Amino acid sequence: MSSANPSSSGGGGGGGGGGSSSSGGGSGPCGACKFLRRKCVPGCIFAPYFDSEQGAAHFAAVHKVFGASNVSKLLLHIPVHKRLDAVVTICYEAQARLRDPVYGCVAHIFSLQQQSWAMQQQQHLHHHHHRQMDQRQFGLSPSGSGGGGDLQALARELLHRQGSPPSGSAMPCTDTSSSPSISK
Ligand code: ZN
Repeated sequence: MSSANPSSSGGGGGGGGGGSSSSGGGSGPCGACKFLRRKCVPGCIFAPYFDSEQGAAHFAAVHKVFGASNVSKLLLHIPVHKRLDAVVTICYEAQARLRDPVYGCVAHIFSLQQQSWAMQQQQHLHHHHHRQMDQRQFGLSPSGSGGGGDLQALARELLHRQGSPPSGSAMPCTDTSSSPSISK
């Protein structure tokens, strides 16, 4: 599961706690406060994660889907060194939900499951003997645990509609502002 780690773009995430006022310095409000048109206080919980340029656009999506106060409450309950990961994944979820109001990022999950199943099928064809070990390693059972069949059918339908699986599925939220033109 570590291959899709969306925090890889964070630029040295988790570099110690207590640095919350470092990026709020003299450079105006953070992206969140800029978007909300409010004063950015020194301890602003969003400041380390939303810069005033791109951060505002990202925060717009987050605010639209989750709401600023919900996100700030959520972050308060997360250890500081985990918050960057939380922000990155919340950005990802929000942008996926805006792009696909029905399935959101679940569409990505389905297509990844579909790819995983397809790979397991191939392995099954070539190395029947190894299949069960691999399944155990990845913790995935193709159709065994309840309801898998329905998910698989839904995933197939999703893939059919979308044409192709999202190639940049591990895309961090830092470069999506330049691609709002993903058409449905
Ligand atoms: Zn702020």
